[in-house]
Amino acid sequence: KTCYDALFLGSTSSPHAKLTWKTWAPLSVKFFIWLALQDRCWTNERLARHGLPHSHACAFCDQAIESMQHLLIGCPFSRMVWHDVFPKLRLTSSIPLGHEPFFD
Ligand SMILES: [Zn+2]
Repeated sequence: KTCYDALFLGSTSSPHAKLTWKTWAPLSVKFFIWLALQDRCWTNERLARHGLPHSHACAFCDQAIESMQHLLIGCPFSRMVWHDVFPKLRLTSSIPLGHEPFFD
């Protein structure tokens, strides 16, 4: 037990961990959210940061650089998806604006 506890010394917990891992969503969705929280998805922005070949604009809208923030809430395509999903889930909160951090 001491060794197991030592593994977590100095570690931090994500404020979104419960929301990410304790949901009814399929594991693949949870894993995607976990990667997105850490900005570890291979978007064009991340490819550029790593010096890898990339497109200069979002594949869906061709209006902005493809970042996680853009893909999740800034892209007009994703905003259309949110507009369809929110009423089906009976969510009364407002659809996130493109400039707000997604996980807030
Ligand atoms: Zn876009």
